[in-house]
Amino acid sequence: MPADRNKGMWNPKEETMTKEEKRTRDQKELVKIFRHAYNNSPFYHERFKKAGLTPEDVKTLEDLKKIPLLQKPELQEAQTKNPPFGNNLTVPLNKLSEIFISPGPIFEGVVTEEAETMLNARCKAFYSCGARPGDIVMNTFMYHMVPAGLNIHLGFRRLGCTVVPTGVGQTVYQAIIMRDLGVTVFTGTPSFLAMIGEEAKKGGIDPREDLKLELGIFSAEPLPDSLRKSLTNNFGILARQLFGTADLGTITRECPEERGMHLEESMIMEIIDLNTLEQVAPGEEGEITCTMPHKLASPIIRFRTGDATILSEEKCSCGRTSPKLMKILGRVDQLVKVKGMFVHPVNIKNVIRKHPELGNYEAIVDRPQLSDILTIRIEFEDAGKSLPKNAEAAKLELENEFKEAIRIKAVVELLEKGSITETKEKIIDLRKME
Ligand SMILES: [Zn+2]
Repeated sequence: MPADRNKGMWNPKEETMTKEEKRTRDQKELVKIFRHAYNNSPFYHERFKKAGLTPEDVKTLEDLKKIPLLQKPELQEAQTKNPPFGNNLTVPLNKLSEIFISPGPIFEGVVTEEAETMLNARCKAFYSCGARPGDIVMNTFMYHMVPAGLNIHLGFRRLGCTVVPTGVGQTVYQAIIMRDLGVTVFTGTPSFLAMIGEEAKKGGIDPREDLKLELGIFSAEPLPDSLRKSLTNNFGILARQLFGTADLGTITRECPEERGMHLEESMIMEIIDLNTLEQVAPGEEGEITCTMPHKLASPIIRFRTGDATILSEEKCSCGRTSPKLMKILGRVDQLVKVKGMFVHPVNIKNVIRKHPELGNYEAIVDRPQLSDILTIRIEFEDAGKSLPKNAEAAKLELENEFKEAIRIKAVVELLEKGSITETKEKIIDLRKME
C-alpha cells in the first residue's frame, strides 16, 4: 500500500497557483483561443461576426461576457447541417489523433497537443483522489465510441499505473479478476462497484478479506454520503469522485478533504445565473459554463453544460488553491426558482428518502398574490384510510427539514396513500399558467 494516499500533488506548481496567477493565465489563454476560433473555425467565425465582434474585441477576462453563450443543441444542429463537424474543425480530419462520438451524437476531434493538457488534468485528478504510481487499476468505463474509457486508461498509464481494461458488464468475472490480479484501484460508477460487491459475496469472495482494493475513483454518477459510506465499509476502501462530461473531459476532482471538488486549472469556468445569464458570486447557485482554451481542433467557448452548482472559494486544507464545486445540484432544466432560490426535485427527494413511512410526492409552486408559495404534498405510506395521530407533528418536523435542505419555507401536506398520481414532472409550476 502506498505510504500515504492523502498527501502531495501531481503538479504542485499548477495546483497551488494564486488567484492572480490564475487570472493572468486565463486572460492570456482566452485571448489566444478567441482569436484561434475566430480565424480558423468557420462555425465560430460566423457566430462572433453575428455578435458584432472582431478578433480585437477580446483583450481581457472582462471581455468574456461579450462572447455569445453556446448550448449543446446548437452544436448538434451545426453538425447535422454540415457533417461531420458542423464547420467547427480547425485542422484537416486526418491530422486528428482521435475522433470520439459523445452522446448526442456529437463528433469530437482531438489533436495531440490538447491531449497532453487533458492527460495532465487526469493525472492531477487521479493523484488528488489518492491513486499513486504502481497501483493496479481496473478501468470499468466504456472503451468504445465515447471518450471515457480510453482517456481514463491513458491518464492512469501516464501516472505510472498498470491498467486492466475491463469495461462494463461481466460483474462476477470482474470480482474474480480483481481478486486474482490484486487490483488496488477501481474506477467506474459507484453503483457498478456496489454490484460487483454483491456478486462477489454470492460467489464466496469476501470484498474486504479477499480483495486488495484500497481506493475507488468514481464518476458519471453522484456519490451520495450514504453510498460512499457503504462502499468504504464493504470494501475497506477510500471512495473519491471526479466530475466530467463527454464534451469537456475531467473538469473537477475531489481531494482528501472530501468536501467539494476542485476545478481543473486549464479551463475557464463561469457559473451563470439562469435568468440573467450573468456570472454569479461564489456561494450562489447557477449553471456551469466552460471555456476550454486547450481545445484547438474543435474549440469550446462559453459552453453551457446544463448542470447547476454552487462554487466555493474557501481555503481547502489539502493546499490546492482552485475553487471547489460544492455539489452538482442537478440538471438545469429540472430546476425551479422559488423566492429567488433554485429548487430541484433531488433536494426534495433527499429529505423524503430519510423517512421510510413517506411515499410519493409532488411539489407545487404558486404565486397567489405577490409571493411564491411552495407546497410539498407527500403520501403517508402506512396511513391506511386515515392519517395517524402523529401526522401533525410529522408535518412540522418535515417543514423544518425542508427549510434546512432548500433554504426556503415550504408548506407540507400529508396525504393518504394513493392520493398522488405518478407524474413525470415532480415540481409543478402553476405560475407559468398565469
Ligand atoms: Zn482540497
